[in-house]
Amino acid sequence: MVVWNNCAPPKVKFFGWLTWQGKVKTSSFLRRIGILAAFANVGCVFCQNEKEPVNHILLSCPFVWLLWSKIMKWWGFQRVMPNLVEGLLQWWSFYKMKKTEKLLWMVVPLAVLWSTWKHRNDCVFNGSQPNFEELCEVVKARIALWAQSFLTKLEFSINDIVFNLPQAAVGVLAAARCLVIGCLAMGLFVVQLMGLIVVQQKCLGHNLVMQQQPVVA
Ligand SMILES: [Zn+2]
Repeated sequence: MVVWNNCAPPKVKFFGWLTWQGKVKTSSFLRRIGILAAFANVGCVFCQNEKEPVNHILLSCPFVWLLWSKIMKWWGFQRVMPNLVEGLLQWWSFYKMKKTEKLLWMVVPLAVLWSTWKHRNDCVFNGSQPNFEELCEVVKARIALWAQSFLTKLEFSINDIVFNLPQAAVGVLAAARCLVIGCLAMGLFVVQLMGLIVVQQKCLGHNLVMQQQPVVA
């Protein structure tokens, strides 16, 4: 499942799960359960829509939809996505691509969801103004940071991922191959070592038996 099977930090994975369940504490949600007063402003801080249900603030809001579109274009996609967060995450999970590319691919939706939510909170609680370009860069930087912390042997920088994603995807492929080859080599070494130990033990046992045999006069 895309929410758990990726290299994002645990708190981000948990947030992804909350979005999957539709349990993000938006203003609309808080008013519905009685924490916000009935007359409280629950409008979308990005587009001034009169409500901000989860699917609006994280996906279908024009401001956020543009962000998704830009990130998809950054990846080289020009496709129509589902308009519900749950459907989007399902679609993302089952999208077929090379296994190694998925290392980056699987973290993209969480980076967008998390960054959008953080930006929304910054605007609601700290009086910041929506900043589309800054949000885009933050999303890309988070993807790069999370991928780097997960794959320590990556030879490309955060800038490589942010500004040259196709090359970085090739880098992930090479790094993953190195890891696999390294594991295989280590496995062969261990097998050979075990073989040597077994042979040595057999020889020692044989010598012991030879030594224990009575000397025939
Ligand atoms: Zn909106």
